[in-house]
Amino acid sequence: MEDIAEVYARFQQSTAVSTDSRQDQTGTLFVALNGPSFRGRDFAPQALAKGARYAVVDDAALAATDPARYTYAPDPLLALQRLAHYHRRQLAIPVIGITGSNGKTTTKELLHAVLSRRYRVQYTRGNLNNHIGVPLTLLSITQEHELAIVEMGANHQGEIDLLSHLAEPTHGLITNIGKAHLEGFGGEEGIAKGKSELFRFLAATGGTAFVNTADARLPGLAAVVAEQITYPGPADTYPAELLAAAPQVVLRLHDGTVVEAQITGGYNFLNLAAAAAVGTHFQVPTPDIATALAGYAPTNNRSQLVSTSRNEVVLDAYNANPSSMAAALTSFAARPAPGGKVVILGDMFELGEESQAEHRALGELLAAQPFGTVLLVGPDMQHAALKPEFLHFPTKAAAAQWLEAHPLTGQQILIKGSRGMGLETLLPLV
Ligand code: ATP
Ligand code: MG
Repeated sequence: MEDIAEVYARFQQSTAVSTDSRQDQTGTLFVALNGPSFRGRDFAPQALAKGARYAVVDDAALAATDPARYTYAPDPLLALQRLAHYHRRQLAIPVIGITGSNGKTTTKELLHAVLSRRYRVQYTRGNLNNHIGVPLTLLSITQEHELAIVEMGANHQGEIDLLSHLAEPTHGLITNIGKAHLEGFGGEEGIAKGKSELFRFLAATGGTAFVNTADARLPGLAAVVAEQITYPGPADTYPAELLAAAPQVVLRLHDGTVVEAQITGGYNFLNLAAAAAVGTHFQVPTPDIATALAGYAPTNNRSQLVSTSRNEVVLDAYNANPSSMAAALTSFAARPAPGGKVVILGDMFELGEESQAEHRALGELLAAQPFGTVLLVGPDMQHAALKPEFLHFPTKAAAAQWLEAHPLTGQQILIKGSRGMGLETLLPLV
């Protein structure tokens, strides 16, 4: 195996780590990761030619051609992870790990908004939360940073455990336990077990858990952790209260401060309360917390409010699963809509054997609510089309055609579906 201290020395002489030879390579350490249909080392000479300083490749013969610039590593992904862990070990700063079924990125962004009022914070960019993204996030932390926030995603058992061992979080937050990636985790019990790997890591290392007591499972899963900060119940460390869920979330913080958020969706109360609890724990003054929470406006298709020339849209097209669909519908139902309501929902992916039943259950939720017009998009959504007035479209193109032929005006519209459905492309049609 590669000598990680040597790779680390090369990393320290580089500007950043790169894994994509198409991007700017100036001064980077290029790690030649393999993909499903390519060998990373095929791109390594090109990366060096484009300005990369060093490259890590799984080709001993190639590495031997220029040992001053190449390092041979039998498994470049493992080398990346070992390097990230080595780097993490050099940093004596708090690292906050965030996982959970829904709301990780939103909570991470809110947390960054709050903590960056007082600290120099490094945090996961976008959604780089997997076995590659977490190492890259860790490697982007410099000596300048005083605190780091690392989003950890998973769709199988053991992944959060691996990511925890890489990032060595000193603090951890699980947003909630819901039905996301049901297929890979093997049911809801499996999800709870998989996500709680973060709490088990904190238990073993003397870390601190932020515990959402409004979730049915989290307090039980957190019982193993000695250091706990709880929210948002009245008896919790940092109580918070939901004052209004629509049109925007309004909440009261533990000291009475009222915050009017720009995000929509009652479920975001818990994401906001989490950020307030973490901020308070890290001694960010409440007025700063309130300013940060009120100032956060998503631009990432997550719980985003968009006014088009004709309608008001709750654009939540970033992803969907049974629990986030239910949360979005409940919250949308509470939204005032004098001119009428339209929901446009796309297939939920990765549900495995549960897919038909979960789409049907969604149809039942829809049938119980007085939504004016219901558009269901995608093959799996046929199981949700329980009422004759629900419009089902096997493809997005068919739904687009309908929207063009039936222009909507003066409506409140919810758009939500799995990432693969890309329902945000319907926005220009409403
Ligand atoms: P991913 O697994 O793709 O990384 P994530 O956990 O980072 O997702 P976000 O991107 O923050 O989640 O939010 C995705 C969607 O999940 C939101 O648009 C919203 O519909 C829903 N959501 C966010 N927070 C919650 C919550 N606390 N409870 C239920 N649903 C939520
Ligand atoms: Mg995310």
